[in-house]
Amino acid sequence: MEYAIGIDIGGTKISAGIVDQSGEIITKKVFSTPQGTRDSILLLLENIIFTLTESAHFENKQLIGIGIGTAGQIDFVHGKVLSGTANIKDWNDVAIKKILSEKTNLPIYIDNDVNVIALAEQQLGAGKNNDDVICLALGTGVGGGVISGGKIIRGAWGGGAELGHIVVDMNGPACNCGFNGCLETYASGTGMARRMREKILADESIGNNGLVYYKHHPDELNSKHVFEWMQAGNEAATEVVEEAIRALSYGIVSMIHTFNPTMVLLTGGVLQDGDWFIEKVRSKVITLGIPSLVKPVAIQATQLGGDAGLIGAAIQPWVYQDNRNVSLDRS
Ligand SMILES: [Zn+2]
Repeated sequence: MEYAIGIDIGGTKISAGIVDQSGEIITKKVFSTPQGTRDSILLLLENIIFTLTESAHFENKQLIGIGIGTAGQIDFVHGKVLSGTANIKDWNDVAIKKILSEKTNLPIYIDNDVNVIALAEQQLGAGKNNDDVICLALGTGVGGGVISGGKIIRGAWGGGAELGHIVVDMNGPACNCGFNGCLETYASGTGMARRMREKILADESIGNNGLVYYKHHPDELNSKHVFEWMQAGNEAATEVVEEAIRALSYGIVSMIHTFNPTMVLLTGGVLQDGDWFIEKVRSKVITLGIPSLVKPVAIQATQLGGDAGLIGAAIQPWVYQDNRNVSLDRS
């Protein structure tokens, strides 16, 4: 049996584990993401790799490599974080592959966090047996991964497939990226919370409906509240959710027109309220766009859950060494 180490680096936590060649997690550990400098993160990564290797007691040749997924724009070929994310401090221009290769003598693969989720789902999850899969992660932001013809689309240097920054409204609100009207401004958890906050602050009657607390504590409001208030019949919350569904549907139609996928897989915290959200997106999408492209596309939730990033990071050595992705078949 062969094994690989997978590490999923997020803004608040780092999940790491040993995964076998069927994609099964053998050991898993979760750490808080250091909020200092890149050196504190790199030191933690080294410790994680050392601890996992020690605990496993396997022979060196059984460990075939280390795969990492991290937020940010990644130069996959050189294994470098080019431009990181506001959620991880000092995570820019970090040559992870070079640094960790020297320490471990193992093949290192590093890719964007949503690219590795897309890879895991396409190899082992909901997208199995599909070569053309789009994956969207609706969390703090909206991340995207595109697999086309069995290959991850990265563009010239790894910055491609920034699907959260597809513009769905030319006159829309300002986005963190500096542009405006991006999908992320409507369909991310942060975007939905911001839309709701604006409505609460602008409308006196909303305060009288029991939301007055958030008028004074707007920063405590999140997308979970928006869904709860919608279920309770609040009109403003219903508008925010409907707006997110509409923006997501328009965005997905543009993605389908561009990439002609067979599947669009959705994941992330915004979906925790249930399948009805995806159902609404699906029924909206088929009324929009070019019917021959849009109608056959399966729009559904991912299957591997919260560990998809860890599994996707870990399977990279098998996928990329000699194109051995066939060995990953779970059946
Ligand atoms: Zn943007």
